[in-house]
Amino acid sequence: MLYGLDIGGTKIELAVFNEQQQAITSKRIPTPTDSYDTFLSSIQQLISDMDAELSVKGKVGIGIPGFINPSTGLVQCANVPCTNGKPLQADLERVLERPIKIENDANCFALSEAVGGAGDNAGTVLGLILGTGFGGGIVMDKKLHDGENNLAGEVGHTPLPWRVFQLTGDDFPIVQCGCGMHGCLDSYLSGRGLELIYQYYSKETRKGKGIVELYRNNDTVAKKSVDTYCELLASSLGALTNTLDPGAIVFGGGLSNFSELYELVPPLLKKYALSNGKLPEIKKAVFGDSGGVRGAAMLNI
Ligand SMILES: [Zn+2]
Repeated sequence: MLYGLDIGGTKIELAVFNEQQQAITSKRIPTPTDSYDTFLSSIQQLISDMDAELSVKGKVGIGIPGFINPSTGLVQCANVPCTNGKPLQADLERVLERPIKIENDANCFALSEAVGGAGDNAGTVLGLILGTGFGGGIVMDKKLHDGENNLAGEVGHTPLPWRVFQLTGDDFPIVQCGCGMHGCLDSYLSGRGLELIYQYYSKETRKGKGIVELYRNNDTVAKKSVDTYCELLASSLGALTNTLDPGAIVFGGGLSNFSELYELVPPLLKKYALSNGKLPEIKKAVFGDSGGVRGAAMLNI
């Protein structure tokens, strides 16, 4: 049995799949955030209960909203503060009495879509989350590409293309990102990014959903904002396409539900990517919100 654990700031979800990747059962518990010992023992209890229920010793894969530094083994995870700076993998392997695999949750999302998801037919899949942030994962031949520091796929912390000022104007805001750098795509291609672009044009604050609604009602400023967002997204995808030559680019996160993206972005990608062959298909994630926990389970296939 394949156990996937998705650790979030408020809840931990366990989903179980058989070796044929069929969903068997799932369970949720609140994330203990105050004490690391409670955090470890809650996961131990969750897994041992499931082992007992299914009379197996499941293979455990875990998705976390953070990173493990491969040289120190220590976790960086702002959303689950009690795990910060802890050797999470070693500690969980000790309490669960088995080897485990841990990955960043965006990587788990990408793997889930590459294995039985929207990118199942592609050799190289780029999974991108257009949500609270902009991040992603790279899967080649059904295996995650982690890089030397587990940072592969961190496309949100690459800079805006220079064309941004042509598209917008010289006073378009270049904001500082949480990572410390300025002008990171994370600030512009996330849901916040669409809101920032709309605010720049309209001088009004509006949530992403409201902007999409206005766009669908042919509002001129919303249309200009969506057009700029799509150009920035397509030019960033162009750079990624020229780097990775993927067969499929799969979108997840809140903005992936903005169905017009799948018509607006592909023609723009032609402008920004070398196209000696076939450009990647741009698709919506099949597994939606359950992609992270499913991908965590698929770490052990
Ligand atoms: Zn950044």
